Amino acid sequence: MGINLKLHNGKTSQEFTSRSNLFGSDISTFRYHLNMKADLHCHSYFSDGKHSPDFLLKRAEINKISHLAITDHDFAFKPELAEAQGSNVRLVSGVEISCKWQTREIHIVGIGIDPEHNVLDSLLLKQRQNRKLRVEKINNLLVKSNIDGLMSYLASQKAMSITRSHVADFLVLSGATKNRKSAFTRFLGKGGRAFIPADWTSMEEAIHTIADSGGISILAHPSRYQLSRYQLTSLIDAFKNSGGMALEVSYASINPNIQRMLEETALKNDLFVSAGSDFHDTKAHWTDIGKFPQINPIAEKLAVWKHPKWCL
Ligand code: AMP
Ligand code: MN
Ligand code: MN
Ligand code: MN
Repeated sequence: MGINLKLHNGKTSQEFTSRSNLFGSDISTFRYHLNMKADLHCHSYFSDGKHSPDFLLKRAEINKISHLAITDHDFAFKPELAEAQGSNVRLVSGVEISCKWQTREIHIVGIGIDPEHNVLDSLLLKQRQNRKLRVEKINNLLVKSNIDGLMSYLASQKAMSITRSHVADFLVLSGATKNRKSAFTRFLGKGGRAFIPADWTSMEEAIHTIADSGGISILAHPSRYQLSRYQLTSLIDAFKNSGGMALEVSYASINPNIQRMLEETALKNDLFVSAGSDFHDTKAHWTDIGKFPQINPIAEKLAVWKHPKWCL
């Protein structure tokens, strides 16, 4: 494992930051608003995405995306990690943090963070260490089921942040299961033979840490947590009361009624709205960079790129 730290356009991290700041805002905000389409949630091979940051950037350019946030699981992507020269796409720094809320797992996306901020760095390092411990325990259970080789498979991957998605790929490759879905049902999900509960940070800590590092916190894919309407309201209340700033209201395959409901909830709660593909892999052909519905006009004035922190 390891990453090749090539700096964007040969500039130092400091030069890059001061030239275009973490939101890349060196031309008028007004023009950005007219021409912009931002994809503020996707994954590279630094976590469980299948592609390099440069591939994502190129794909974003082809798909006419103006701003891209690469939001790997518990790994803060630094714009300098992209090697592409002269891309028209503005990279926004980002991360997706796995958190605990009550007894559930939820995900908070942070954009515009300072990826080198000390407190954020320690939190993400701890999360990644917990991921390693989790996967070692999963490996012990797999070995008991005579499935060997997970740790050497993981060592051959580029990931900085190990997820169960990597384990699922290994189970398919090694012939233990026929596909990823059954890897989760038979082994990795709750009730599976190799299920190990995760030990994530709290939602409050994630939100505070994103704020400390200068970023905007976004409640990721709120409709994917299988919550009742009442539970969703409690989650959004808790998110807002902890300083959460925006709801993701548009993502791959979202039902238009749910999108509208989330936009109305954001309006009612003075929260901003965000959109992102959660793209991982071109093989999942129903997803792509930029593939999600537009934010509806009623919520457009609350788009995160209009947040005061977007152009600091
Ligand atoms: P982790 O954060 O280690 O628990 O890994 C979760 C990742 O695995 C998610 O980000 C998804 O990309 C993937 N994943 C989770 N559940 C499933 C599932 N049932 N089927 C396929 N992939 C899944
Ligand atoms: Mn994932
Ligand atoms: Mn997520
Ligand atoms: Mn994601």
